[in-house]
Amino acid sequence: MSMRQKKALVYGATLLTIGLSLVSLITILPKPEVAGAREVKSNKANSSNAWLAASFPVENFQGYTSAFGYRRSATGGSNWEFHGGLDIAAPQGSYIRNWWAGRVLKVGDRNACGTHIIIKSGTWEHTYCHMEGNVEVISGRRYLVDRAGGIQIAEGQNIPTGYRIGRVGMTGRTTGPHLHWGLKYDTNYVDPAMVLREMFSQQQIARRGGSTINAQQSQVVIQESATTGDSGY
Ligand SMILES: [Zn+2]
Repeated sequence: MSMRQKKALVYGATLLTIGLSLVSLITILPKPEVAGAREVKSNKANSSNAWLAASFPVENFQGYTSAFGYRRSATGGSNWEFHGGLDIAAPQGSYIRNWWAGRVLKVGDRNACGTHIIIKSGTWEHTYCHMEGNVEVISGRRYLVDRAGGIQIAEGQNIPTGYRIGRVGMTGRTTGPHLHWGLKYDTNYVDPAMVLREMFSQQQIARRGGSTINAQQSQVVIQESATTGDSGY
């Protein structure tokens, strides 16, 4: 191969690389019209003081380890990924509590989310990943089973607010024990941190003696991400 041919090859490869990076940037980076969250007034998302009774999802909170939204791939490299939830660190084996009363939509243990449970409460859908235990089929019905934790929950079962639904584990794609907590409102992802802030502000107002909370006192506006496809955990 002559020097000139080699140069042409390298040049071609460089162009191809730049082209590919441009394509991946365009497809992976959030486009304003795609990522631009649709605003929904919190009083539409929920009646004004409804979240007074909501439960924080872990019993032994240690910290928030990864926020909701676009981030560099957790597995390294230069890829961006959409993180469709909030990561809450807690000791392995500590209990997870149901955020809001609802019905078990699905239990699973076969993907990056690990052993997980999805609960539907009206228009809301909440997902809990990386739990202890696994899925077992008993008499044709699918259960999330964690014997050491005393957990056995069936698909279709109704679960009250604050009920223990499992324990923090390390199943699926994770580097340390934490709960990945995902929230969707009407099939769109919602940042769980916004919901937690709203819960805490309502509970604070209530503690100060307010019997009802009006929409003006509720500062947080729930934003729904337009992203509805699969996301990182
Ligand atoms: Zn996560």
